[in-house]
Amino acid sequence: MEGAVVEVLTTTPQGGFNPKPIAFLDRDGVINIGSPNYINSPDELVLLEGAAAAIGELKRNGYHICIVTNQSAISRGLWGPKQIEKIHQKMQEMILEIDNDAVIDLIITCPHRQMDRCNCRKPMPGMLYLGESYFRHNLVLNKGLNIDVKIPNEAVKVNWWKDKPQASNEHDLIVGDRKSDLGAGWARGIRLFKVNPNLGLAQVVSRAINQQDKGDNFQPVR
Ligand SMILES: [Mg+2]
Ligand SMILES: [Zn+2]
Repeated sequence: MEGAVVEVLTTTPQGGFNPKPIAFLDRDGVINIGSPNYINSPDELVLLEGAAAAIGELKRNGYHICIVTNQSAISRGLWGPKQIEKIHQKMQEMILEIDNDAVIDLIITCPHRQMDRCNCRKPMPGMLYLGESYFRHNLVLNKGLNIDVKIPNEAVKVNWWKDKPQASNEHDLIVGDRKSDLGAGWARGIRLFKVNPNLGLAQVVSRAINQQDKGDNFQPVR
């Protein structure tokens, strides 16, 4: 598999520019507690305190919710896209039990290892490019599981030494616990929010919904 795994959970009107901002959220260390051995099944999922309500808060403030997650366990052959769909179905159920506004729209997974040199693994911005293409342009995806969604090479041409580029929507944001999350967001010019993986999304949600807050400063190479 060369492309990304994309799960479409809600139906978004296609065609024409959609002005709603997008909240790109890393998964492990932002929504749920991460593990060095991966989250391998639905029963290993533990939500971080306040993360579900924070997703609801973003939703109530008009954001699309797009999870972007690196999961190299797939490329390592530990399990496949059907398993990640099961994990994510459970995650969405657990979140909705806490806050029924907290509907996730799209989940994009990079299944690759670093050595695969793909266009999706963060800090490459390919997954964010796909999310923007889906919500704002004309990327057509099926409801449910889409396997091997290709990302064009020109979408991930980044000059890490130049200034941060201009975002397609100045209110877009990414929340992550690692530099690679911030790098991917930087490459798309969006607002960046770094969290402690023990605190997750709840740590920054009030800043994120404040559109005057330009996010954290980040220099990818300097
Ligand atoms: Mg993470
Ligand atoms: Zn990838």
